[in-house]
Amino acid sequence: MPKTLRLAAATGLAVLTMGLAVPVLAQDAAPAECQVKEFAMGLRYQQQSAEVRALQLQAYALARANLQAAIDKAADPSKLAVVTDLDETAIDNSALLVRDMQACHVYDSWDTWGDWELRGKPRPIPGALEFFDFADKAGVAIYYISDRFGEPENKAATIATLKELGFPQVSDDHVLLYGTTKVERRAVVAKDHQIVLLLGDTLHDFDGVFRKAATDVKRAEVDKNAAHFGADWIVFPNATYGEWSSAPLTAWDAEMVIK
Ligand SMILES: [Mg+2]
Repeated sequence: MPKTLRLAAATGLAVLTMGLAVPVLAQDAAPAECQVKEFAMGLRYQQQSAEVRALQLQAYALARANLQAAIDKAADPSKLAVVTDLDETAIDNSALLVRDMQACHVYDSWDTWGDWELRGKPRPIPGALEFFDFADKAGVAIYYISDRFGEPENKAATIATLKELGFPQVSDDHVLLYGTTKVERRAVVAKDHQIVLLLGDTLHDFDGVFRKAATDVKRAEVDKNAAHFGADWIVFPNATYGEWSSAPLTAWDAEMVIK
């Protein structure tokens, strides 16, 4: 869950409450009375498509093969670390997003998220438990670096949720939540470990260069960093929220011909 979106989403809401008719979320936005419905297609893809399941399994298969290769080269696997994001990488929160969308509540203002952390029941992403079990049994350190709320009550709830789902190495020291940037939290892990794998659905799960950057800057940085993807950076699909959600679209400029 990206805290960085809060301001933009809140701004959009503020304009809506002022009663302006101009869509603020996207050029092709749904009617203003329930603008969040424009997220329905992405939610359907994320929660129901078999294709997303296949992509998630594919991502974890790549992660496992690449981790095995790193273990094979390492003198001491306990010095290796896997750093993973949580939301939409290791756990699926789409039930909350669907509930809010159906109630016409703009979920990426993140004002219902805290309650979900305390009471919600996310599901493991397909392939996640098997992958982290493999890493754990190989003696590799696992760190969960997420922008879930870091306040004591929320952190305790997130830890309890992860334990209940069966994730390994879930402890106060291995679950590093919002408070400092992900770059700073990765640096803490890197003091004692060689981070051999980063897993995430958002690009700033991999490098600070992507944090709060414009979409075209991010695309250019993706190209520059192409060698990482599928190697030590494993990306998961998330069609339900992201800094891209209000990006303008590009259309074919030819006159429409209908036959
Ligand atoms: Mg995430």
